[in-house]
Amino acid sequence: MNTDPDCIFCKIIAGEIPSFKIHEDSETFAFMDINPANEGHALVIPKEHARDVYSVSDSAISATVKTAKKIAAAVDKTLNPDGLNLLQCNGPAAAQSVMHFHMHVLPRRNGDDLKLNWGLEAGDMDAIGQLAERIRDNL
Ligand code: 5GP
Ligand code: ZN
Repeated sequence: MNTDPDCIFCKIIAGEIPSFKIHEDSETFAFMDINPANEGHALVIPKEHARDVYSVSDSAISATVKTAKKIAAAVDKTLNPDGLNLLQCNGPAAAQSVMHFHMHVLPRRNGDDLKLNWGLEAGDMDAIGQLAERIRDNL
């Protein structure tokens, strides 16, 4: 399995850096975020090192999403939040700070005002349609 000796999350998986582990299986690892955006903020990572959504393997991302579902249910049962985001960031503009693919399991509270929501404002339908075509062309 591909790992990176300089990667902080690979070190957490290897036990070289301590973590509050929630779950581990052959493909994934889940642990508490030590800078929680909200109480119960957890992270789920594939054991295989990959930087982002562009490079993660199909099997690693599938296993990670499956584990995130399991962790989300456990967090929901434990804390009974008002909502929960599954969030995944790629690149600096998307606020990715650790370059090992990960999913945030982020419980939400009414009015917590976390800065990752946006209001609904109707877009330009012609522009949206054209963009859909350009993206389809790149599939
Ligand atoms: P990103 O900003 O890349 O989407 O998320 C990285 C997350 O990893 C952040 O929420 C940050 O708090 C968390 N993090 C960074 N270093 C460590 C660490 O050493 N241990 C744990 N448990 N979380 C970490
Ligand atoms: Zn890594």
